[in-house]
Amino acid sequence: MIEIINNTLHIIAKVSNSKCAYLLRMNNWDAEIITIYGDERDKYTLLNHSMIDLHNSGTVDVEAVRKLNAFKLLNREDSIYSFLIQDIFSIRERNESVYLVMFSEKESQFSSDCMDKILSIINILSFQIKQFLELKRYQRVSIKSEPKYDAELENTFDLMSDWERSFNSIMEISPDLIFILNKDGNFILINETGLIELEYSLTELKGKHLTQFVEPAFLNQTVKALNEILSSNETKRFETIFLSKYERPVKLEVSGKTVVKAGKIIGMIASAKNITKEKNYEEELKKIRPKLMETERLIHIERKRTKEHTSLIDELNRLKSEFISNLSHEFRTPLASIIGFSETIESDPDLPPEMKIEFNHVILNEGKRLAKLINEVLDISSVEEGSIVLVRTEFDIVQVLQSVIDSQKEFAEEKSLEFIFEKPEEEVIIEADKERLSEIFKALINNAIKFNNEYGRVRVTVSNLYRELEVIVSDTGIGIPEKDLPYIFQKFYRVSRPGTEIPGTGVGLVFVKQIVDLHKGLITVQSEPGGGSSFIVRLPKFSKIEKSEVES
Ligand code: ADP
Repeated sequence: MIEIINNTLHIIAKVSNSKCAYLLRMNNWDAEIITIYGDERDKYTLLNHSMIDLHNSGTVDVEAVRKLNAFKLLNREDSIYSFLIQDIFSIRERNESVYLVMFSEKESQFSSDCMDKILSIINILSFQIKQFLELKRYQRVSIKSEPKYDAELENTFDLMSDWERSFNSIMEISPDLIFILNKDGNFILINETGLIELEYSLTELKGKHLTQFVEPAFLNQTVKALNEILSSNETKRFETIFLSKYERPVKLEVSGKTVVKAGKIIGMIASAKNITKEKNYEEELKKIRPKLMETERLIHIERKRTKEHTSLIDELNRLKSEFISNLSHEFRTPLASIIGFSETIESDPDLPPEMKIEFNHVILNEGKRLAKLINEVLDISSVEEGSIVLVRTEFDIVQVLQSVIDSQKEFAEEKSLEFIFEKPEEEVIIEADKERLSEIFKALINNAIKFNNEYGRVRVTVSNLYRELEVIVSDTGIGIPEKDLPYIFQKFYRVSRPGTEIPGTGVGLVFVKQIVDLHKGLITVQSEPGGGSSFIVRLPKFSKIEKSEVES
């Protein structure tokens, strides 16, 4: 290491025509020559030590040193025509500096011309001194702990001190663009990566101003960033777009810093990362982000639907098992009566005839109830299978409704219900399946009675509209909670009313709706709990009208 410093000192002495040159390290209390060229180091001991005070007061300059007695003494012995002392490296915390001291036999040797020549070498020397002092410190530390590392460290610092070669290697291997601009912003040097990216040769770029290669839209912000870099001593970052020789946009993230020599800005060094791909990806991402969000939303909806579907299937399964247990119960009750009463008649030949008649009556009624239940279940499955075919005939709906009401009157009387039938004067002829309509109105009226309170009222209203018939079956019964309304036409659905045991299977309304649908009609319900319910059935009076309406 010291050899390298010696060489550099030698070069400086040659360039400046100095007879003697040395590097002096000074701190608060000591002055020591690191290396000397051209003379004996002892000769300068007095001068060096008398400079310590100047060093401590921060006024080490040519004029101040010339005034020192030690300097005058030296001058008497050996005429000194030109003298230079220059601070080349300092460690402020330790108030330690290394000075280059030079003596020349020629007059005004260290003029500004000569200084320009040697300043660049002083830069190198200053770097070498820094490495040297650091090496010394490391050695001091490592001698105490691990002296065997010395040789390795020497190599490391030699490698580092060969800065020019290292710098060239970095330029060569860097995947980023590296370029050096002079203080005006013109290219001096650009590495291989930069030349490849910009598709220019070095001769094409050299001497040209950087802004000549910037995309016009980015010119202002690039000039602003360059000015900021040139007016500060810090590393600055900015984004810009260069245009390659063949007009290809190259998006760059540039980091730049000024190069300072002897306190003056002499240029700028910058490294730039090609971010074209990243930027393009970013833009693509920006474009597809809404689509991604939409897809995510759809997936979310689909997931929710699947979940709902699963819970619907679960609900249906639950309803099915509930239905089966209800159905068994509904079957068992009449069967138990039928079997019980038949056995009594058979086992007791002395049973009075009037009792026999009464028991037979019960058996007949329970048998009918069973048959009705079985029919209901069969009807549902045949509608589901699509095997129900409407048998359309023309008939008076008022008459049909009248006979349904008559058949239910007895049942209504059990609860002391008032029955009101509001019908038009005239006949209302419709073309429909008489049997099926009779069944569905029977089911609706039956529910109106079943879910009614004692002394309540059932009202059946028929309205003969222009092309439609409207039948409203209204009651003053217990009503249906709002949350159950959307489900009452679903298979096996029964409103849960804990504490009230109203028999049923939850298929009556399903059948009603299916028959209304087959007639291309509409059924709706309005209800309030405790206030009764109204089922509104609208049917086209004639299938042809309905058909021609669809066509028109
Ligand atoms: P169910 O055989 O149980 O009567 P439905 O299909 O006829 O089956 O009716 C389904 C559910 O709708 C019933 O469990 C009942 O709670 C409710 N419902 C039907 N009609 C009425 C009504 N008029 N008043 C109150 N609730 C009714």
